[in-house]
Amino acid sequence: MRQPVRLVRMHPSDNVAVVATRGGLAAGQAVDDGLLLREAVPQGHKVALRRIEAGEAVRRYDVPIGYALATIEPGAWVHEGLMRMPDARALEDLPVATQLREAPPLGGQEFLGYRNPDGSFGTRNLFAITTTVQCVAGVVAQAAERIRRELLPRFPHVDGVVAIDHAYGCGVAIDAPDAQVPIRTLRNLARNPNFGGEVMVVSLGCEKLQPERLLPPGSIALRDERQARDEQAHDGLHLVRLQDPAHGGFSGMLDAIVAAAEPHLRRLDARRREAAALSGLVVGVQCGGSDALSGVTANPALGHAVDMLVRAGATVLFSEVTEVRDGVALLTARARDAEVARRLVAELDWYDAYLRRGGADRSANTTPGNKAGGLSNIVEKAMGSIVKSGTLPIDFVLGPGEKLAPGQRGLGFAATPASDFVCGTLQAASGMNVHVFTTGRGTPYGLAAVPVIKVSTRSELAEQWPDLIDVDAGRIARAERSIAEVGEELFACIVDVASGRRRPWAERWNLHNALTLFNPAPIT
Ligand code: CA
Repeated sequence: MRQPVRLVRMHPSDNVAVVATRGGLAAGQAVDDGLLLREAVPQGHKVALRRIEAGEAVRRYDVPIGYALATIEPGAWVHEGLMRMPDARALEDLPVATQLREAPPLGGQEFLGYRNPDGSFGTRNLFAITTTVQCVAGVVAQAAERIRRELLPRFPHVDGVVAIDHAYGCGVAIDAPDAQVPIRTLRNLARNPNFGGEVMVVSLGCEKLQPERLLPPGSIALRDERQARDEQAHDGLHLVRLQDPAHGGFSGMLDAIVAAAEPHLRRLDARRREAAALSGLVVGVQCGGSDALSGVTANPALGHAVDMLVRAGATVLFSEVTEVRDGVALLTARARDAEVARRLVAELDWYDAYLRRGGADRSANTTPGNKAGGLSNIVEKAMGSIVKSGTLPIDFVLGPGEKLAPGQRGLGFAATPASDFVCGTLQAASGMNVHVFTTGRGTPYGLAAVPVIKVSTRSELAEQWPDLIDVDAGRIARAERSIAEVGEELFACIVDVASGRRRPWAERWNLHNALTLFNPAPIT
């Protein structure tokens, strides 16, 4: 069957449009006002709508995404080989708080969550085992398996066991200034709202990241008197050190971990979901495996859902420094005040220096899949990426792995690398309890700690992976749904997933990517 011609132009002043037609369009095809394609153009790629002179800007989203290296004829396929990437915007003279769009509150929204002692809410009721060092990972994995097999049948209200294993903890420059990033990430992961305030640590004994350094006194609030009593009754309830002479070999270690887990499981099992305001939701958003339709379908729909969430009182975290760097002026203009703008610029500036130290820049972000999907460079990718943050003012900024402070609400920029697993890990440390992930090329990504909702940019992907994609935003490109309609659907999906009424595909299949720390400090 012949597919209808669909070209998507993001702004009237754009001189290119993106082919949304399944399978792309053939040479000679008439597309727009009698314009004929000079060559075949794949789906997701750009077509010149008029003649673009050498040196002239190629415009998409009403911004220059590149400058033509030679004249580009109307109807030509416009790809990365035909243009020079614009330089990065300097981090000076940026507009500050000039675009503060206020939107009316969205009242009457609730979800069902697990209330935590610190006032946060879990969307899942999980038992987590925190580890100080990679050396213990094998033992903890086996202990977690035994807990699932032997204990969980007695505690049916506990959703699962998560072993927080990682490559950090020893053989690292632990006093280097940037070591604070992996250390606080681990500390804050242990305090993720989906773990119910129960913290249990397995340590080796001789590692650099000692338990007292990971969780200094006062970093974990005791929940109540009952827990304090339990702690005295169960020596070492919170901490199992594998090198402790009390443990006889491997089986002794397993016994100790399983025994220490039980009181935590008992307390978690006694909890039930309760109706809560959406202020209990912390939704982390990111994209991965992007294509040129990401910025046309899935990300704008997610942006619509993000605006609704923030209006309903929820907190939303967006991230991925290298994917917003080229749109910094759009973000500082939305900063709530000068201090938020200053923090945002400081995070981007730190990241520029981090990339420079490694002999790279922001252009290292784009992947072969991005380019095959029609994204010419990081500028084009950034414009399509930022739209998922919606349109409302940016209320706060978090550094990599920093936890939301009490009272921090609304839309926040959580500075993280764009790498899917690193971004997801850092958002989880910041307190995320639902994750929304848009994808064009497709990834089976999922996390053990937080449910992940996956949104496809193209219907072809949703049809190819019906048991991995939760929401198909490709219907926007096919003109079957509007951005707002898919955004509302996504909002309802987020509330259902948070409430445990719906389990996204990655959760149903137990697809769990590794928690992956961001360690900008040296390894020794
Ligand atoms: Ca990503």
